[in-house]
Amino acid sequence: MTNSATIAAIATPAGSGGIGIIKISGKDALTIAASVFRKSCGRTPNSEPRTPNVFESHRLYHGYVVNPENGRVLDEILLAVMVAPYSYTREDVVEIHAHSGPAVLTAILNLVLKHGARLADPGEFTKRAYLSGRIDLTQAEAVIDIINAKTEKSLDIATAQIRGNIKAHIESVRDSLFHILAETEAAIDFPEDVEETIDTDSAVEVIQNQVVDKLNKLIKQYENAHFLRDGLKVLIAGRPNVGKSSLMNCLLRKDRAIVTPIPGTTRDFIEETLNIRGIPVTITDTAGLHETDDPVEILGIKKAYEYIEDADLILFMTDLSQPLTPDDHEIYEKISHKNFILVANKADLVEEKFEPDIPDAWKLPISPELRKPEIIKTSVRYDRGVDALRDLIAAVSMGGYDDKNTIIPNLRHKLALERGLQAASSAASGIQNGTPFELISMDIQESLDSLGEILGITIREDILDQIFSRFCIGK
Ligand code: GDP
Ligand code: ZN
Repeated sequence: MTNSATIAAIATPAGSGGIGIIKISGKDALTIAASVFRKSCGRTPNSEPRTPNVFESHRLYHGYVVNPENGRVLDEILLAVMVAPYSYTREDVVEIHAHSGPAVLTAILNLVLKHGARLADPGEFTKRAYLSGRIDLTQAEAVIDIINAKTEKSLDIATAQIRGNIKAHIESVRDSLFHILAETEAAIDFPEDVEETIDTDSAVEVIQNQVVDKLNKLIKQYENAHFLRDGLKVLIAGRPNVGKSSLMNCLLRKDRAIVTPIPGTTRDFIEETLNIRGIPVTITDTAGLHETDDPVEILGIKKAYEYIEDADLILFMTDLSQPLTPDDHEIYEKISHKNFILVANKADLVEEKFEPDIPDAWKLPISPELRKPEIIKTSVRYDRGVDALRDLIAAVSMGGYDDKNTIIPNLRHKLALERGLQAASSAASGIQNGTPFELISMDIQESLDSLGEILGITIREDILDQIFSRFCIGK
């Protein structure tokens, strides 16, 4: 599993800053460092070094990056040395802490590449950490999550994952499965002693309590809280002029997330990332859902309905100062199968105690899985009710989330959990129904494999590549 090539990359973000770091990892890292680095030792960069370049692990050396061919000094730097296996990748790692700036960093990187390193692929340092067994796949994924975390809550989830919380849960479930597998294998090998080799009642109980229930809980955690890592998709819908853009602007003024949204996600709609009560929220303002013959607008409207399907929560806005119109009713028809909050806006235009004239049907969930719609009066123009709306968005979305539980699987984990669950359930009912142990054993093996995928124990190369391609170079 050792990687022959030594890899290098600029590990700090593009642009200018205080320092920029070039990371080198692999068996030639120290040799390469030795050929381009001159320790200072109180001398000028080009005088012969008093001591040859010998490095001790976990030390920081002050000196210069010098091109040995022409003696040109590229930068004054600090060199950090971490000798295998006590490094991120478990290989020899050298970090060059240089002055930041694209020109100087590129020049140093090129020099390092010329001396035997090759440019690292995106995520390759973390991939090596995973391949060397230093971290499992969930921990590798957490590295991306930490980089992408938009709020403190999403960061909590990512750091819990990098500490190995998901890993520990999956490992304990797999232990139980291994135990049952051993018993079924024994029952296959010694069919005459089945009674002694496997206690079918307790095997079923173990699968139910130690496997099925635990996997169900993890899947539920995904469903209840995955928006904390992926972002809660909120759509503002309503006919023209009810105040959608005003609401969007009002929320943006206070809550705009520091991190800009991934570019290119939408062109037809205005989409922004907010931090509402710690929840990363992606909010989209529809252009106005109403009947039209204009082909351009029809395109926009078709897109709007796609957004409705995609949304986790819809803010359905109406104008409190006017009777509901056929457009309002039509929009209700289109969104009522989703979780929504009815935002009755322009409350300033009516008396304080004025109650919105809302059809009773709108106040009831359309299916048992949906929450009862919340209704809130706002006056976006005067910033009234908007804070209460923030609370409501948080309350509605956090409904099923246990604040203390930061173990939240991602989509890849969830799909594997579901496969693992199905195979385990099938094993349990097989044991109950007297299915041949050969088949039960296959089910358990399949469950083990699915769960092993989560940790990266059993995983296809292409899926692995897909995971690491989400990283940036230098991570
Ligand atoms: P959109 O078409 O749904 O995006 O609506 P806009 O946000 O563009 O608002 C339409 C008009 O309603 C603008 O003139 C806003 O200033 C006004 N408006 C928005 N919210 C309120 C409110 O709470 N009260 C009053 N009186 N006017 C509002
Ligand atoms: Zn608008």
